Amino acid sequence: MSSTEPRTAGLNTMQKHRNITIERLEKFVQEGQFDDVNLTATLWKHRPESKFVTLQVYSVPDLKRIPFDDAIKGKFVDTHVGESFGPTWSTHWFKVTVDVPYEFANEEVVLVFDSSSEAMIWSTDGEPLTGLTGGGGQERHVDYRLTSKAKGGDHFELYIEVASNEIFGAGHGGFMNPPQTDRYYRLNSADIGVKNNTAHALKQDLDILIGLVKHLPSDSQTSSDALYTANRVVNIVHPDDPKTVEEATKVTDEFFASRRDTGYSLHQITAVGNCHIDTAWLWPFDETKRKAARSWSRQIGLLDEFPRSTFAASQAQQFEWVESLYPELFKKMKKYAKDGRFIPIGGTWVEMDCNMPSGEALCRQFLYGQRYFESRFGARCKVFWLPDTFGYSAQLPQIVREADLRYFFTQKLSWNNINRFPHTSFLWAGLDGTSVLTHFSPADTYTAQVNVEEVTRAVTNNKDKTYSNKSLLLYGNGDGGGGPLPAMLYRLERLKNLQGLPATAKSGHPQDFYEELEKTSKDLVTWKGELYFELHRGTYTSQAKIKKGNRKSELLLRDVEILSALCCATKGVDYNAKFYDEIAETGGVMRKRAFEKLAQSFSSTDSSARALTVFNSTSWERQNEVVAVDLSLLGDVSATSFAQRSSDGTHGLVLVAAANKIGSFSVATLDLKALSQEFVPVTGRKNDQYFAAPLGFLHSFLKVITTNVDDLIDTVDGQYVLVDETKQQLVTVDNELITVIFDSHGRLRSFVDKSEGREIVAPGFLGNVFKIYEDIPLFWDAWDVEVYHLEKGWDAGVGTLEVLEKGPLRAVLQVKHPLTKHSTLTQKIIINARSKLIEFDTHVDWHENRKFLKVEFPVNITQDIATYETQFGYIQRPTHYNNSWDLARFEVCGHKFADFSEFGYGVALLNDCKYGYAVHGNVMRLSLLRSPKAPDFHADMGEHTFRYALYPHKGAFLESDVVKAGYEFNVPLVVSSASASKPIDQQYFKVDKSNLVLDTVKVAEDSADGKQIVLRFYEAYGGRGVARVDTALNIKSAVISNIMEDDKDDVEVKDGGFSIGFGPFKVITVKLYLA
Ligand SMILES: [Zn+2]
Repeated sequence: MSSTEPRTAGLNTMQKHRNITIERLEKFVQEGQFDDVNLTATLWKHRPESKFVTLQVYSVPDLKRIPFDDAIKGKFVDTHVGESFGPTWSTHWFKVTVDVPYEFANEEVVLVFDSSSEAMIWSTDGEPLTGLTGGGGQERHVDYRLTSKAKGGDHFELYIEVASNEIFGAGHGGFMNPPQTDRYYRLNSADIGVKNNTAHALKQDLDILIGLVKHLPSDSQTSSDALYTANRVVNIVHPDDPKTVEEATKVTDEFFASRRDTGYSLHQITAVGNCHIDTAWLWPFDETKRKAARSWSRQIGLLDEFPRSTFAASQAQQFEWVESLYPELFKKMKKYAKDGRFIPIGGTWVEMDCNMPSGEALCRQFLYGQRYFESRFGARCKVFWLPDTFGYSAQLPQIVREADLRYFFTQKLSWNNINRFPHTSFLWAGLDGTSVLTHFSPADTYTAQVNVEEVTRAVTNNKDKTYSNKSLLLYGNGDGGGGPLPAMLYRLERLKNLQGLPATAKSGHPQDFYEELEKTSKDLVTWKGELYFELHRGTYTSQAKIKKGNRKSELLLRDVEILSALCCATKGVDYNAKFYDEIAETGGVMRKRAFEKLAQSFSSTDSSARALTVFNSTSWERQNEVVAVDLSLLGDVSATSFAQRSSDGTHGLVLVAAANKIGSFSVATLDLKALSQEFVPVTGRKNDQYFAAPLGFLHSFLKVITTNVDDLIDTVDGQYVLVDETKQQLVTVDNELITVIFDSHGRLRSFVDKSEGREIVAPGFLGNVFKIYEDIPLFWDAWDVEVYHLEKGWDAGVGTLEVLEKGPLRAVLQVKHPLTKHSTLTQKIIINARSKLIEFDTHVDWHENRKFLKVEFPVNITQDIATYETQFGYIQRPTHYNNSWDLARFEVCGHKFADFSEFGYGVALLNDCKYGYAVHGNVMRLSLLRSPKAPDFHADMGEHTFRYALYPHKGAFLESDVVKAGYEFNVPLVVSSASASKPIDQQYFKVDKSNLVLDTVKVAEDSADGKQIVLRFYEAYGGRGVARVDTALNIKSAVISNIMEDDKDDVEVKDGGFSIGFGPFKVITVKLYLA
């Protein structure tokens, strides 16, 4: 009698209680309740036991992460299962000795090592074998196969490196919370056992069957067949009789065999294993290096075991870590990469944020990433791969194509919390119109588990069925690493072509998927511009110091690079800053050194001639700026040489005046003494008397100028900036362009542009008002600010105003605010002599809990859109909440400026290190500081300094010079005391079209002698033209290039310069070959 037949007479057949039957099935496979009587009881032939394993441990002191060779020399002591190891972030090396008992002969023996934390198994000769993930959850993976066929009496020795953290760090009472630093992790098991592989497979089969029951339509044949089959399995299996497991497996095998390879379904899935590893998240940076090794070593093992599977890994930085720290593992990765199964992907250095980095920073992600992949794996990546970042800049399509990639993958917009993104496979067109074939995995995840639900969702959620029947499925645990588990690969085999499912699936290479999509799709629709992410809008502001460091570093390194490139390009000057070699030094030191080297090329140093040398790294002339010169640089120069000193006496002020008498782009001698009247046409006034300001410098792009400090003469006898404190409670500051009135709290009462006769402050409102908003998001504390925060805000405490400086070159007001009971703000309000700009130089001591500080300017402008700077251009967003897509953008990212213009006039709000803006109605808001408590409990507490400015301008944005104003506010003229025996005036580049910005000047990556210079231009306003570029460098030839610095078309060099045509928002790279 077969056991599939009733053992007693009169048993019922399956009744029509669908839901009760489904629950019965679920109870049968679950772990936890009923373990001893359900399928769980069958999973082991020999249950794991610790008695065959001996353990010793070496706990590394001081939370150090040490190499294998050092670890094995540690002092190991006996230990055992049940002990706990910590504290958080500490490392414990286990020496594991296994003696396999004779009863395991001929069996596959596995080690089960569960440290409740992450771990890596090493061979005794230092080869990383596989990563383990202890504890519970879907990431759990604690098995390692010691042998597929034991002899009995086998002896194994291994080392296991245990990290005292879980896959998502060590959050206190929740993974996202600040880490609990005193956590200890219990060693739950260090056992060997023999799995019942048939039972394990049966468990996967039942999971799939239950998935078919639940996720296919209940009236479908396959759902019903699956229900019947799974229920039959439950009836067959008696946990104490292994034969019944085998019988049940025959039933499931038959179910799948009779339904497999039944032809292609109408939707085709390409399945790619991956384990997304956040380079920085809930664990120390050094842990990321180990995560990469743990994850990838495990995946190499799975590629062996499942010979059709593929695995994609991104981020050149993580590859470089593994290459240098785990060379043996890296060799294996290269071997599988050759077969197209371990797939380097993405083309970038890390999976970067795409909101805040500058245009050039994004270019460098690809330049360094692609170069790395090409040098190690012989090819550049074609797929830009960014599953988990928080919005996608409108310039990315152009940058992606210019970096020699063709395709783009993400799924993150499925996290939108207001609108559902309408496309799956589409063309994404950037600011300049360049488009890139884009696919969002319709399973809406990059951590798919490979189940029926995901496969069906890939079809139901394919929003472009009309145009394509293909999709990608990214499976494998992620964020903290991990990747696919064997069970996922087993399920993929079962599901890949199963009748009744709406899709077939096969393992594949993402690039092949895109090429196929490109060939077979038809009439794909186009999405133009930014892929705004409707979540995580707080990230523009949280961790303000990192944002500040980002902006400052980008622009400081830009200066260093320009100066360094010019040194290389200049005969006899040898200075090539190697950023990554010298990054330990401050950028400021590097800039100073490069600047001094370059200045020396003009004349020999003469210590008797004191001079100031000024460097302007922007691609236009600078004038009407007040430069503060550090008096300590000037030795014995009398401070009275200056028309004005800073209120603290440390700086002398110099007005950079407008004049252009020295031949452009030439080295010239500037004799200020002789020319002072002619060169200093700046005028001031008092009682209608006009007079000359004391000193002018002449500046244009990349011009180095020296003047003798001795020539600074104080001839000013009157006020240039007028400060009037006579009106009750009000302070008026006046120069020839504007009149501004502040109240006694530093709030802007009135701002009149004299030439236009306009009041800028909205009638009845005050500007420069600090607002505090309650800022309690729904879950992701540091990431999210939610739309309702705008409903609950109040004015911060008002301050008191005093006048620090009254001119003639600048006025400085100082206001002190007690913002709240806990936080204070001190602000210097600065107005220069010949400028319409008001600068707010701000210091905040910030101690809040879930409060958001913003500054607001209600302005006299009416317009439905505002303009925000983005990478190599700008984007415009609505200033109203008409529909849900408008509303979703209640907080947006901008770089150096946001502009709000109507016909004929506009106002820009500039900043030097902020990224969060919101222009709504007629109110311009800049986001200043947040105070989230997780994952960093101390985020943004303490002192902050930042600057912002209000800059009104004639003409709407397109007619304005706001792009330049944004740069100038962020890129100060560099003033050095570098001495030279004669004045110098050297201009290196001139661009004759004001909308074409020369942003980058660098030595080409492959130019060993520094004689190939790469220039990167961008069109900043959305216009076109032909620009003439003149240069003092001795050019032999020039080519149009790209981000990868490939040589493309020749550019005709004529009269020491060249002409280039350009279109709206184009990023143009030109490579110069110097003589
Ligand atoms: Zn992530």
